[in-house]
Amino acid sequence: MQLSIKSADKLKPIPDSSALSFGTIFTDHMFNMDYNPEKGWHNPRIEPYAPINMDPSTMVLHYGQSIFEGLKAYRTGSGSIQLFRPKDNFKRFNNSCRLLCIPEVDENFLFDSLKKLITIEKNWLPDAPGTSLYIRPTIIAMDPFLGVRASYTYRLFIILSPVGAYYSAGFNPVKILVTKDHVRAVRGGLGEAKASANYAASLYAGEAAHKEGYTQVLWLDGIEQKYIEEVGSMNIFFVIDDEIITPSLNGSILSGITRNSVLALSKSWGLKTIERRITIDEVMQAHASGKLKEVFGSGTAAVISPVGELKYGDKVITVSDGKVGSVANKLFKALTDIQYGREKDTMGWIEQVI
Ligand SMILES: *Cc1c(COP(=O)(O)O)cnc(C)c1O
Repeated sequence: MQLSIKSADKLKPIPDSSALSFGTIFTDHMFNMDYNPEKGWHNPRIEPYAPINMDPSTMVLHYGQSIFEGLKAYRTGSGSIQLFRPKDNFKRFNNSCRLLCIPEVDENFLFDSLKKLITIEKNWLPDAPGTSLYIRPTIIAMDPFLGVRASYTYRLFIILSPVGAYYSAGFNPVKILVTKDHVRAVRGGLGEAKASANYAASLYAGEAAHKEGYTQVLWLDGIEQKYIEEVGSMNIFFVIDDEIITPSLNGSILSGITRNSVLALSKSWGLKTIERRITIDEVMQAHASGKLKEVFGSGTAAVISPVGELKYGDKVITVSDGKVGSVANKLFKALTDIQYGREKDTMGWIEQVI
């Protein structure tokens, strides 16, 4: 496949990198590629960022056959640009494809196309501390058809957005509400896919949590509502005594790349890491007996998100005295040092773009 490139006639002003938020500004160009059963994936192109023209009957608008990825490009102190484990994102993209009956993509071709796109947009890489270029690959079902089946045609696109530091107000713990009334995903469903539908399923509980003054929802399993799954759109870790515990990947949990990196780093430091089922009752009991040392989430956006307060039913517990725990702090520093090139990457996680 030959990647074609069409440059924008007029370039947008590049925003001040110290005043960025999340997901509001997009660069001058995007990557597009189409699928139909005759040609397979075809016509890969980098072209000016533009709206997608679609028929009101386009299947994705009605039945939600849509998947995405989220990763970041980082500018290092020496001015080079690098990605953190991007091949794992494209591998997961294909896993999501399989679960949503979308034809798989050539991971290496996409990776090369992404590097090309970032190279073209290199001036958009912000350099203020904690900022990055967020990358959003997406696939949507394109058939203009109202019957229910998997679409025959698809559009794949990648857009880029300069984003601000997640912790612009400091590395602060968040308050989490454990929901008993709603579930995000069930085993056998889409929980393991990075599917747009999972986000639609999370909104109601998210709004309810915000109304109570909580930032995110902690999801329990969809069957017994006992076992812990994830928090918001992050994976979750508990430090109980000297063990770092995270729920095992059971089919309804998203396999986070940050989660995997947390496990790998912790192991490399000789810490005890365990992937297993863990109930909310066990966490509450560990707190009652003074053994719950830390709770934190992991994901590309926040890297590590310490939890300072958990509410379950009418019980409210404070974790790590509402401060950032030492394990969370060490992981945050180690991961961001690798991502921004401040420390050598001994794990083989970094891919150089420029
Ligand atoms: C993207 C995502 C995560 C985090 O995955 P990372 O690869 O670490 O960014 C966790 N849970 C859900 C539901 C997600 O969509």
